[in-house]
This record gives sequence, structure tokens and C-alpha cells, in this order.
Amino acid sequence: MAHPDLSHVVDACRAGNRVDLSEHDPRETFGWDKDDAKDAVEDVMDDVSTLQQRLFADGERAVLIVLQGIDAGGKGGTIRSVMAGLNPAGVDVNGFGVPSEEERAHDYLWRVHAHTPELGQIGIFDRSHYEDVLVVRVKGLVPEERWRKRYGHIRDFERMLVDEGTDVIKLFLNVSKEEQRERLQDRADDPEERWKFRMGDLEDRALWDDYQVAFRDAMRETSTDDAPWYVVPGDRKWVRNLVVATILRHHLRRIDPQYPPAEDGVEGLIIE
Ligand code: AMP
Ligand code: MG
Repeated sequence: MAHPDLSHVVDACRAGNRVDLSEHDPRETFGWDKDDAKDAVEDVMDDVSTLQQRLFADGERAVLIVLQGIDAGGKGGTIRSVMAGLNPAGVDVNGFGVPSEEERAHDYLWRVHAHTPELGQIGIFDRSHYEDVLVVRVKGLVPEERWRKRYGHIRDFERMLVDEGTDVIKLFLNVSKEEQRERLQDRADDPEERWKFRMGDLEDRALWDDYQVAFRDAMRETSTDDAPWYVVPGDRKWVRNLVVATILRHHLRRIDPQYPPAEDGVEGLIIE
């Protein structure tokens, strides 16, 4: 097989100064071929799996993957695909929906902070504290003077996580409006998928443009070198999976976790 060129993907998807979603094509393929990309995901995930084992053994750092995207944007599918290559003992997945009464009685970071990964683990957030500057903003759930200040809180919170040992990788799954229409239609049509469909999804879809602006501002305000945002082309699942695996490998390689030294006498030991 022709191995897809992965060298530019991480930079190409990094939001950096290109936070306007119109600059990112949801149908991007980076010139890859579908079958080659599917093979490549397995190779990349093999590397990720070894690095995860070292992260776990080392126990000095953690990784938090924050997944954001619209309904039917592929958050669940991304988690399944990334998880498939990992040791479940070292992964911690948490989803964040409409806050419960207890959660609403605390500040908005309380519930997410309780679920940040332990050192040695890879944590995955299916939605996150970003909902508190996305749905909360778009639906006007708190006044602007309150949600505006949250960008600063979030920068400081993530900075603290990084300083204390947790790398934060933020992935926006960028799906086109037409692709979302097709996926929602498929959900409504399929008896095995229908349970995922909520009529509220259509209300959010009607607010598409407002969400795009809210995502843009969230990325602009919170994309830092320590906790970067990536815009992942989301319309083609095989592209999305290879991009996410490649970004994860990039960060794990940068952390470069090491196995702890063996106890004295173990190396060269002959057991009778
Ligand atoms: P899903 O992830 O599709 O199961 O849906 C979870 C729902 O919870 C989405 O509609 C989110 O917008 C909503 N949600 C998540 N966090 C918040 C929040 N902090 N405030 C209000 N709604 C939220
Ligand atoms: Mg929704």
C-alpha cells in the first residue's frame, strides 16, 4: 500500500490563528486514499498503544482529549475508533450533558474537574466545559457578562492542568451542514439509531450559524500552545479517524513517557 503522508496533518488542523471554520474544509482528504488510510490508522494506533503503555507505566503525566462537535458530529464514533486500539484500563471516558441539579448548584468547572484523568491515564471528554461558552451562549442560558469571563477561566484552568501534568488536546469535529442533515436523517430512519435522535437536535441545527460563531470565538479565545485546538475534517469518517489518531500520537511522542527503571537485580536475573 501507499502509505499516506501524515507529516503535515497536525499543523494543517491546528486552529492557531485560523479559527474561522470557513477556512477548514469538512471534506478535506489530504490526498489520501480510503483503503490506505484505513490501514494507516491501525499502524498509527499500534504506536499510540505502545506510547499509552509507557504513559501508564511512567505515571508522571496524563492526556485529556476534549471532543466537541454538533449533534451527529461523530464524537461517539471517534471515541469508539480511538478506544479500539487502547488498553481500556488506561482510558477514562466521560460525557457531559445537560447539568443535573447538583451540578448546577456548583460552578461550571466543578463537574469536569472531578473527571480529569489521573496521571498515567488518557481521559476523553465527550462534550466538556466548552458547552458553557457554546450552548449556554447560543441559547442565552446565562447573561453575556458571565459567559464572556469564562474564556479566561478556561484558559487558566487548562494552564493549571498542563502545569500539573495533564496535556490537553482539544478536537473540534468539523462536519458540514449537509453531512449533518444526512446523518440525522439516517438516525431518524434507522430503528437501531433512532434512540439517539432528539427533537432538540433540530432546534440546535436551526441555530447553526450562531454555533459556528460561538465555536470560532471559543477557539480564538482558548487556543494556546499548551492546550491547542484542532479542527478535524469530519465529513469522512476514515479521514477523521486517521487525523485524530495522528494528533494523539504526536502529543504522546512529545510527552515521550518512559518505563520506570526496574528494581535492582532484575536486569539479567536468571530465575531457577
Ligand atoms: P448529547 O451529547 O447529544 O447526548 O447531548 C447532550 C446535550 O447536553 C447537548 O444538547 C448539549 O448541548 C447539552 N449540554 C451539555 N452541557 C451543557 C451545559 N453546560 N448547559 C446546557 N446544556 C448542556
Ligand atoms: Mg443538541
